Amino acid sequence: MMIPIRCITCGKPLAHLWEKYKERVEANEQPGKVLDDLGIKDMCCRVIFLSHVDLIKNVAKYKK
Ligand SMILES: [Zn+2]
Repeated sequence: MMIPIRCITCGKPLAHLWEKYKERVEANEQPGKVLDDLGIKDMCCRVIFLSHVDLIKNVAKYKK
């Protein structure tokens, strides 16, 4: 849906990094390497990026 503002486990702010991450992964960079560059080192935070499916635009169509 929408990337969580903070890591659910450790509370580190993550949402400001999502756009950069998405851009670089769409440019065919390795997701793991991008996360290393962005300073996302802990597994609890990395899994949020790696498992996230960005559906907010699809869902927003149905907003009244
Ligand atoms: Zn975390």
